[in-house]
Amino acid sequence: MTQALSIVIVGGGTAGWMTAAGLVGCLPQGMHRVRVVESEEIGTVGVGEATLPQLRDFNDMIGILEADFMRKTQATFKLGIEFVDWGFAGSSYIHPFGVHGRPIGGIDFHQHWIRAALNGDRTDIEEFSFAIQAARGGRFDLPSVDPTMVSSTYTYAYHLDATLYGRYLRSFCEQRGVTRTEGRIVDVVRNAETGDVARLDLESGQSVEGDLFVDCSGFRGLLIEGALSEPYQDWSQWLPCDRAIAVPSTSTEPPRPYTRAMAREAGWQWRIPLQHRTGNGYVYSSRYTDDERALEVLLGNLAGEAIREPNMLRFRTGRRQRAWVNNCVSIGLSSGFLEPLESTSIHLVQMAIVNLLKLLPRSAGDHRPAFEFNRLMAREYDRVRDFLVLHYHLNQREDAPLWRDMRALQIPDSLAEKIEAFVHRGEVEAYQDGLFTPASWLSVLLGQGLVPSAYSRVTDNIPPSRSAVEMRQQREEIEAQVARMGAHADFVDDYCRAA
Ligand code: FAD
Repeated sequence: MTQALSIVIVGGGTAGWMTAAGLVGCLPQGMHRVRVVESEEIGTVGVGEATLPQLRDFNDMIGILEADFMRKTQATFKLGIEFVDWGFAGSSYIHPFGVHGRPIGGIDFHQHWIRAALNGDRTDIEEFSFAIQAARGGRFDLPSVDPTMVSSTYTYAYHLDATLYGRYLRSFCEQRGVTRTEGRIVDVVRNAETGDVARLDLESGQSVEGDLFVDCSGFRGLLIEGALSEPYQDWSQWLPCDRAIAVPSTSTEPPRPYTRAMAREAGWQWRIPLQHRTGNGYVYSSRYTDDERALEVLLGNLAGEAIREPNMLRFRTGRRQRAWVNNCVSIGLSSGFLEPLESTSIHLVQMAIVNLLKLLPRSAGDHRPAFEFNRLMAREYDRVRDFLVLHYHLNQREDAPLWRDMRALQIPDSLAEKIEAFVHRGEVEAYQDGLFTPASWLSVLLGQGLVPSAYSRVTDNIPPSRSAVEMRQQREEIEAQVARMGAHADFVDDYCRAA
């Protein structure tokens, strides 16, 4: 029998309100009591604007209507991420939300492309990606649902205003019975026998009890670290960036349907186009620069005028050893952080919520699901870490120590094995499971300039002449269909107006 639980969420940032929305949106109405405790005085981290396509599944899962959500969060569409100057100064590639080409004769497209490249064909693989061609052209339309159409070979995510998304979810939750308690938590009291979190004491004198506590308190990790002292795995030896400065600016052009990540001397700068403004930030390593210089670099590279004071942030890259300990599940920044190079944080929040829903205890005090939850979350964090390290490690920049050091880095074995398989066989099948698909890995491996020395032998079952014809046809089909799409900015305007 399933017992009704009293679930207390600590924190009302993106993680807190997404967790509350996931719980009330997906569990039988009124069965469990869901409460959010947050402190307006402490506030939220205030960043987190670029997302991954899976957020669409989350919104669908809880019943949010896309056009309404886009209008209220000033969102734009996102077809991928452009990496500027990452391979070397002057280089650019896009990691698209979609594939590069379709299989030919049952063999992955990229194997044909590698064979052609090794035979001297210089056609850029980006020309076979529908998402990239649409992105670079500043165009957008919803993907086709007909799998025979080349316009079905991509998907999309959003750029959104994180503060507005939080407000949107809060209103969604409050309409569905979530209670919100305002106030600063000053003490976390544990049960002396079981070690479980028993109650939160607020500055106001109020106490909040619960069966299950979700720690969404941000970098503080009020419960998971403060009360339960769960260790944190520090990954700064692989990902040395530990600070960021964020500043929104006025827009100077119609919003592009992609995020930009521009390499800088001691890290990289993001540019995220929203409907009403542009989000900017510089993620950097304090080992290679100082705050003053970082601010100068960021402000010197803004496209528009800054519209708020810069927000200076410090972080520690890594993850909590166990995200779920006793009756406390940490979600969001309290459970780990990886720099936003591939917009993964909100996705990791989403993944934790989906896993929590699957593994929700049947009764208070039942901690058995924790083991599986921790296994799933640790695996995903580790995979994302490898994917991020790949971007830095495969660079040919000579201009600054950070880039030279990252090239010489002793990378995790799990990543070294993947690179090896790609170099010698052009193989990306090892990336099958996990958040980032083989297509994503391929775009970064090739985009950073790593062309394999060989392709899969089975490709030779298809004559190169047939590959060449079909590759040309695919490219022409993409070109023709993209040319028929309208401008991204117009699509967003029409879509939101109709909501
Ligand atoms: P927070 O937003 O910090 O919320 C913490 C909550 O806990 C607040 O409500 C606070 O009031 C409450 N709280 C804390 N202590 C107490 C207390 N004592 N009493 C009561 N309440 C308390 N993610 C992406 O997916 N895409 C991005 O592009 C992206 N960019 C980022 C850029 C940077 C520089 C950083 C640092 C992060 C970025 N992220 C991004 C991550 C994203 O911002 C977070 O994952 C997301 O906002 C979730 O944060 P959170 O809710 O865990 O924490």
